[in-house]
Amino acid sequence: MARIAILYCKRIKDHSCIACAKCYKGMAEKNGEFAQHDEIELVAMTDCGDCPGLTVPRVKLLGEVTNNLERPLEIIHFGTCMRLAMETGDCPIDFQEMKITLENKFGIKVILGTHTY
Ligand code: SF4
Ligand code: SF4
Repeated sequence: MARIAILYCKRIKDHSCIACAKCYKGMAEKNGEFAQHDEIELVAMTDCGDCPGLTVPRVKLLGEVTNNLERPLEIIHFGTCMRLAMETGDCPIDFQEMKITLENKFGIKVILGTHTY
């Protein structure tokens, strides 16, 4: 069982995807980056922390809350929306740097992307 959280781009959510329905479908169908998990437990879903890439304090708070609820995170997926923001928008997040920072600081695995729809 993979206990995951999904982060979405605060600027894109509900503009390109409504209500995150694509990620819910992706989890159900093990589409895209979800295919690497046998079973998925979605523990939390929240935004990236907003521009200019305030993801570290966001994940710190997320970790504190999920630990307090006794549902600790193992994996964070940056949603496909975040990947698109980095690749085609003006998102200031450098994924490789952010991945190393989050994994070292919080002991979680960070994956880029979710569904392929
Ligand atoms: S890619 Fe996923 S997390 Fe991002 S807005 Fe779409 S459904 Fe939500
Ligand atoms: S562009 Fe990047 S930093 Fe800004 S809200 Fe979207 S994902 Fe977050």
